[in-house]
Amino acid sequence: MRQGLYFDSHAHYDDARFEEEFPGGAEGALKKAFEEGVCGIVTTGTNPVTSRAAVKIADSHDGIYAAVGIHPSDGRFIKEDDRDGALCEIEAMLSLPKVVALGEIGLDYHYDGMDREMQKYFFERQLEIAEKRDVPVVIHDRDAHGDVFDIISRHKNARGVMHCFSGSAESGRQLAKKGWYLSFGGSVTFKNARQAKEAAAAVPDDRLLIETDCPYLAPTPHRGEINYSGYLRYVVSTLAEIRGTSAERIAEITRENALMVFGL
Ligand SMILES: [Zn+2]
Repeated sequence: MRQGLYFDSHAHYDDARFEEEFPGGAEGALKKAFEEGVCGIVTTGTNPVTSRAAVKIADSHDGIYAAVGIHPSDGRFIKEDDRDGALCEIEAMLSLPKVVALGEIGLDYHYDGMDREMQKYFFERQLEIAEKRDVPVVIHDRDAHGDVFDIISRHKNARGVMHCFSGSAESGRQLAKKGWYLSFGGSVTFKNARQAKEAAAAVPDDRLLIETDCPYLAPTPHRGEINYSGYLRYVVSTLAEIRGTSAERIAEITRENALMVFGL
């Protein structure tokens, strides 16, 4: 890890949007983020191709780690005959030195017409792999709280992070009690994000993480622009306000928690 304050637990530095919109591309964004106090980043894959790209970025930078997995929205691009091969490839990547988690995986019911059975198939198979390999998972849950909760309850040895947590304060408390880490990003800074702010206030210190999910979800006052890890400072100051503590304290506990959950 590098010297610095902020650990970005979830980002996508392989995303083409960096090359198109950020001065200097992803390399420019990373350089700027590290200059501005970021100490570590987990860059995250969403299918075998972007997972390989995440590993490549991690391998070539100090302080960057990778998560590899099949995202619920990406499973549909994998032909049924190729599913086992894709899962094997993800599992093989877990042995690489800079890979710290299996993710992002989960369920996304936001758009109609998504194949929920296919999503559940990839989610459960990847939870089984994570349990077998004893690695943390990074879970994407969009408008699917009930099913995500049921499925993780059936996988008792699964552990890890609920990324961009969007559930209620009560479900956040329950998940934290079961040992899950809850990560908050740009959306907690949005003015109308009452539920996210309530949940962010309810999470115990030892289960709180921060993330950008960049290049998406830039925090206020940069909402709608391209996001990068340097903007974590806005998430940190919002969390400090919500939780009635200092920004330094939020940076410190979220950094410690990231090291813990990712085994660094
Ligand atoms: Zn993501």
